[in-house]
Amino acid sequence: MELNYPIKRRKSRVVKVGEVLIGGGFPIAVQSMTTADTRDVDVSVKQINALFDSGCDIVRISVLNHNAGDNLKAIRDKVDKSRPIVADIHFQYKLALKAIEAGFDKIRINPGNIGAEWKVREVTSAAKDKGVPIRIGVNSGSLPEDILKKYGHDSPEAFAEAAMREVAILESMNFHNTIISVKSTNTQTAFWAYHMVAERCDYPLHIGITEAGTLETGTIKSSVGLGALLMTGIGDTIRVSLSADPIHEAPVAKKILKSCNLKDEGVEVIACPTCGRCQIDMIPLAESIERKTAHLKASLKVAVMGCAVNGPGEAKAADVGIAGGAGMGMLIKKGEVVSRFKEEELEEKLLAEIEAMTGEKINE
Ligand code: SF4
Repeated sequence: MELNYPIKRRKSRVVKVGEVLIGGGFPIAVQSMTTADTRDVDVSVKQINALFDSGCDIVRISVLNHNAGDNLKAIRDKVDKSRPIVADIHFQYKLALKAIEAGFDKIRINPGNIGAEWKVREVTSAAKDKGVPIRIGVNSGSLPEDILKKYGHDSPEAFAEAAMREVAILESMNFHNTIISVKSTNTQTAFWAYHMVAERCDYPLHIGITEAGTLETGTIKSSVGLGALLMTGIGDTIRVSLSADPIHEAPVAKKILKSCNLKDEGVEVIACPTCGRCQIDMIPLAESIERKTAHLKASLKVAVMGCAVNGPGEAKAADVGIAGGAGMGMLIKKGEVVSRFKEEELEEKLLAEIEAMTGEKINE
């Protein structure tokens, strides 16, 4: 569909994370993070692969201590090389060196937390040798005391200054293979912090709303915060953080991107809320269609409408759809009714049409 007002994405440099290109207008990469204890290699690998299968382009693991650090190579070796993985490290430069040595595709570490300058130099030097980017991640809990004191609270200005301070440390070592995040749990703070950082540099931005909440609340809060950023052109990679099984995070992130017209892939089900005119059992039908087509790669808009009064008109924005009637329904393509069926045949006929249009198999 032609958009009259396409999103103008911020111009950023390209950073390569394994096979995935971040920034420079490349597709916005979806990330999530494991919850497994990295000291258990098999459980970690299983969860990493499950997160990729759920739609992640990049998966991050936290490295707690040296016991976990010793497992990094085993984890990297057991995950397919085409699947970029990131080591999240706090304070300990030796763990960062181990992750780089093990073949991790990116590390997340704040140079300001590492300590002596020579330690940071060792990390940037190893990262440079292997072409491994570093993500600087500032959030409310990691704002330096002096910056908090200067601004009085965790304001957007405080986030931006803290991030640029970390950037300056890396730049002083001639390291520019950097990605930045400034995640606040406050959507407005995050919005302005990201915009301030965006004005001050051209590094790609990893966007997220931290501690967004439980499955439902976190989904809503992330959609508001990330949607606002994406609509204003900010964001090269995205993570939805949920207090839930992380398997839910990538599907939500992908739906946010799709809702912002920033993902030209997958099925979008447009469904009416139903009203007194609806004469079919429409809501389970819409849910079933969405579930059975969630894995499809082709870009397709599918409408599921409750009645023949407004349904065909409202389904015009879709490639294919159905509208219910009294115990029956009609199949609609590009707003035109092409055939009519009994209610019990509607799902089967619509799914068959989707298979024919996408050339992909439906999940039963
Ligand atoms: Fe109501 Fe029909 Fe509109 Fe659905 S499509 S909300 S049933 S008028």
